Amino acid sequence: MTLQGTSIIGNENGSGNESPIHGINPASGEILQPPYPSATEDEIKRACKLAGDAFDTTSKLSGKDRAAFLRKTADNIEGIVEDLVLRATAETGLPEPRIRMETGRTCGQLRLFAGLVEEGSWVDARIDQANPKRQPIPKPDTRSMLRPVGPIVVFCASNFPLAFSVAGGDTASAFAAGCPVIVKAHHAHPGTAELVGQAVRHAVRECGLPEGTFSLIYGSGRTVGAQLVQHQTIKAVGFTGSRAGGRALFNLASARPEPIPVYAEMSSVNPIFILPEALAERGEEIATGLHGSSIMGVGQFCTNPGIVLTQASESAKNFASSFTEKMSGTGAATMLHSGIRDAYEKGVEAHEGIASVLTLTRHNEEAGPGQCSVGTAVFSTTAEEFLAHPELTNEIFGPASLLVQYTDHGQALDVAKKLEGQLTATIFGTDDELAKNKELIAVLESKAGRLIFNQFPTGVEVCHSMVHGGPYPATTDGRSTSVGTGAILRFSRPVCYQNFPQGSLPDEIKDGNPLGINRTEN
Ligand code: NAP
Repeated sequence: MTLQGTSIIGNENGSGNESPIHGINPASGEILQPPYPSATEDEIKRACKLAGDAFDTTSKLSGKDRAAFLRKTADNIEGIVEDLVLRATAETGLPEPRIRMETGRTCGQLRLFAGLVEEGSWVDARIDQANPKRQPIPKPDTRSMLRPVGPIVVFCASNFPLAFSVAGGDTASAFAAGCPVIVKAHHAHPGTAELVGQAVRHAVRECGLPEGTFSLIYGSGRTVGAQLVQHQTIKAVGFTGSRAGGRALFNLASARPEPIPVYAEMSSVNPIFILPEALAERGEEIATGLHGSSIMGVGQFCTNPGIVLTQASESAKNFASSFTEKMSGTGAATMLHSGIRDAYEKGVEAHEGIASVLTLTRHNEEAGPGQCSVGTAVFSTTAEEFLAHPELTNEIFGPASLLVQYTDHGQALDVAKKLEGQLTATIFGTDDELAKNKELIAVLESKAGRLIFNQFPTGVEVCHSMVHGGPYPATTDGRSTSVGTGAILRFSRPVCYQNFPQGSLPDEIKDGNPLGINRTEN
């Protein structure tokens, strides 16, 4: 597929020619063609107008029609997998197997949502039939179900160029809910974004949907992104990235005359508590697993384990030295873009600058000009010092870990209570230890979206029960998930129909249950 180097505004290509960005190979510094100019203000307005118009149609589509569109999108993306491998590996430095795997996950997500909306029960249909004889006042007929909220803006994530970008989880869940989507491309993978964008545009046409069902916009977050979020047609936002970026967009959306929700997934250190018996029994095995989890994707996963807590002991010392040895033996690797590399180096330097934090290893390799490679880092401190330095809870996005030793159970609880909101919290222990740590579980439940026992947090299963969310700053709305079918709830809202004649009700809440879905009745 030939890259056009333009925004996609419904059926038209953008014509903007200001502030073009290029993809840059983070392994070599090579500038990739073509340039991608920023969309103009008029183009952004047009994309929003088209999306608003398209909502009239997409909101009324049957579950079957939405499923067909999602499946067609997945088919089209699979059809360009070789182009994606070529371009995405060059733009992101991620290896070919990862791009193939992520393409599979992206298409799998689209098809999972297709199955969900085709089956139909996700709309949470509730029916309370009328009782005119009820005393002292008659009971009205009320029925409710979830309906789409309107056009959505999705910000591509740099660390998932496919599965959390143009046709990733946010877009798939918004389409599934019946919402048009405008995607703001990430500057770190513009060509990958266009390839997927063309595949989605073809699916829109092939399914006979209005052109405004999908647009893809290039340009800076602070100008183009801000304009999109502030446009009155937009009714919700999906975002994965930095705390600063997510918070800025959340603030903009909240300050609108009509505030809208921003579902931003931002920052998490994913604490791991290794309880004493498990540490003594299988410290080496846990160190090996932790190493694999910490360096996976050069640490560029939102579920990367950044803080590991153990009770001070001989086993803890052995664990720390084994883990450190594995991390220091890990070669430098290429990060996604220079901004992420710089943020990583800054985070590591900040930890190094705290006198009570010990640097156990800092793999420092000289990178050539334009290269974004970094080495691993492991730090160690006591729980007392950790509690005295709130900045140690900051996410270092990359292959860096902080080992924290606590003196006793009470101090472990104090640390848990001090943690900010997290995507995940993990406990390694024996079954007995877990049973004895109800208080720790209760604290972690209040902090994280996903509690894990004896497994590592990286690798998020895409399924119905997954929760990839958590209290701030893990996300801006801890009641939501951005992975799994529950993600659709972010882009829908309940509507109640009172005293409506059968003929005017949606099929989902008609008498006789014509769609055969699960409902809560009377
Ligand atoms: P980012 O800087 O937050 O960028 C993500 C998107 O938000 C981009 O489209 C960006 O636009 C836009 N944006 C950023 N700041 C904005 C602002 N103030 N107003 C409006 N839009 C804004 O994230 P990134 O480039 O992916 O990575 C940077 C850092 O984010 C990483 O070092 C890491 O700390 C963190 N991160 C965390 C996760 C996670 O899941 N926890 C994932 C990825 C990144 P531009 O294209 O103009 O930059």
